[in-house]
Order: sequence, then structure tokens, then C-alpha cells
Amino acid sequence: MKKKITIFGSTGSIGVSTLDIIKDHPDKYEVVGLSINNNYEKLLEQVRSYNPKVVSIQNERSYIKFKELNKSNDLKILNGNDSYGEILDNDTDIVVAAITGSAGLLPVVAAIERGITIALANKESLVCSGSLITSLAKKSGSLILPVDSEHNAIYQVLDLKNKSKISKLILTASGGPFLNKDINQLNNITPEQAIKHPNWSMGKKISVDSATMMNKGLELIEAHYLFDMPEDKIEIIVHPESIIHSCVEYTDGSILSQMGNPDMRTPISFALAYPSRISTSVDKLRLSSIEKLTFFEPDFEKFPCLELAYSSLKTKKSAPTILNASNEIAVDAFLNQKISYLSIPKIVEKTLNKASISDINSIKDVIEIDQESRKLAKELVDSGGF
Ligand code: MG
Repeated sequence: MKKKITIFGSTGSIGVSTLDIIKDHPDKYEVVGLSINNNYEKLLEQVRSYNPKVVSIQNERSYIKFKELNKSNDLKILNGNDSYGEILDNDTDIVVAAITGSAGLLPVVAAIERGITIALANKESLVCSGSLITSLAKKSGSLILPVDSEHNAIYQVLDLKNKSKISKLILTASGGPFLNKDINQLNNITPEQAIKHPNWSMGKKISVDSATMMNKGLELIEAHYLFDMPEDKIEIIVHPESIIHSCVEYTDGSILSQMGNPDMRTPISFALAYPSRISTSVDKLRLSSIEKLTFFEPDFEKFPCLELAYSSLKTKKSAPTILNASNEIAVDAFLNQKISYLSIPKIVEKTLNKASISDINSIKDVIEIDQESRKLAKELVDSGGF
């Protein structure tokens, strides 16, 4: 039996890598649904190559364009936010959740409500909704397989039978493109510089998050909710070679880690094949070609987003939601050259200070807090002075 796959965010970096893996295993996987925001031209190519049953396009103009150009008569074409559930009404075994930002929350919830297995690449949905996602998944029986390389590494070496014997999770960080820059050199960083990651090929938002190290901060919160680990048992360590993708330390002194060349096709294929494994065309790591592996503590002064993430996680309630939403607005403003690189953590910090912290009891609460925080962050961006 082929596994039926639906991809939310099929034209982004993770979506394209997922399709690349599926292309090599036509006997194992069948694409049934593809969902995108904007890029209808790329979606047309994907529809020709993978022949899904249903597509969903969020952007109204792209939806109209796609309908004009589409030649496949039996393809169901949906539009708008309400289509997340409808796209899953076709049989789906695995949802690949690859939409960037908190926009990825509703598709994840739609998949969880249906008890579908999720290959989760969208960390923001976990960060912004506290323990709601994992408790909803427990109720519906939906299995969440992390695609984020660090969490995927931890998942691979996590001994759940001995959970009480885990002394800490160690999240590795490449340190991003500015690891070796002096703090005084960060003033005039351009978006082009910030999105040039030294090891990983990724989308723009996550690349900027890697440059500010907010990505690691979001991953700290993601790890807390995903593995139910207190924040003082999660350590961030800089490892510029990006070979060890994260570790679990046990009370007997063992540290287990997963290694490999930095290529997202490895964690994606793990999630698609779980509990089995499949071959990929990822370059295999040759241990003899590694001269050295280095590790050191992160610089909290140079990367203030790390501290903001730690303190939001300590506060809990809506603080991580506000952190995430204001960061999305700040990163977008930076990419559109409205604010400087150094203003990103300032916008986040000011939004956290201005917003009132409240409890999160439902997905509706998450959406409201997310929107309120975006509004606050936008006002700060528009007020200038950054
Ligand atoms: Mg990651």
C-alpha cells in the first residue's frame, strides 16, 4: 500500500525537498494534495509531475491564474483558509506541514483533528500554541514526527522507556552567518547578508531567524512542548559544522546524537518512512573527511533573541505566542528594509513589554493573541525610530 501524502506549503524549500524524495520512491508514496499560498506557476509544474487529486491556493489572484492555466480536468481546486479541512477530506496518511510562520497553525490543527500523522516542519505552530497542539494530538491519536533537524535528531535518539533518566536535551546551533562577526559589525547588515546561511539551504524567514539566532530560541520552545522537557533541561550549544544535529544526555553519562551532512532531505525522509527508513540521494557523511567538530556556548549579548526566547518560555502562557508573532512582523519589516537587523530583537522585546500576558485555553485564543501582537509590533515598526 502506498502512503498518501498531502503537503501544506509545497512550493517552499521543505515542500520541494519532500517532492524530491517522493519522486525517487513512486512505489511507496502517492501525492494526493498540495497546498500553496502564491506560487501558482510552480504548483502547475508540480501538478503535472505528481498528479494530485486536490490543490488549495490561498492567494485569490494566484487561485484565479491557476484555474485559467490548469489543464487537468479531474483536479479539485480550492481557495482560502477554510480549505485546510476540505483538502484533507481525501484520504491522507501523512501531512507534511511546511508552511512558514503561525499561518501554519490551522492546517496543523486540521490534520490533528482528523488523527492524521504529521511531518512537522512548521515550528511556529508549536511555539505559538503552548501545549494545545500536543494535547490535541494525544486526544486524536495523531502522531507528530518532527522534521526540524534538531528535533528530528532528538526524536531518533530519545529513549522514551527511560524518560526519567534523561538529564538534558542539547540543541545544536550553527550560529548562522554572523557567528564570527564582531557585535559592532552588525549595524549595517543587509537582508542579502542575513539570508546567506553557511550550511543549510532554507527559506528567507528561517534564514533571518538563524542569523539572529531566534530560530534556536523558537526551537528551544518547540523542544519544550514537543518532548515535555522543562526549560532548565534544554541546553543550546553552538556547533558551527552542523554535523551533530542535536543530542540527548542520560543520567549514566551517555550522550546520544544523530549525525549527518546538513540536508533537510534526511529528516524529511525519516518522517515519511517512519517507523521504517528509505534511501535518499543525500551525500553520505564521510567521518574520515571531518577534521574536527567544535562546540561552544552561545553569545547571549550578540544574539539577544536567545534571552528573549528563554524568558518567554519561563513566563509561558501567551509570552511565546507574542514572541513569535512580533518576530514574524520584525523579520518581514527587515526583509522589506523598513527596519535594521539590530531592530529585530528590539521590536520583539518592546512588543513583549507592551502586550499583556494571558492564559491560552483554545486555538481561538492563540489566533486572537497572535493578531493582537502583530498589530502591536506593526505599530512599533511604523512608529519609526528603529
Ligand atoms: Mg532547525
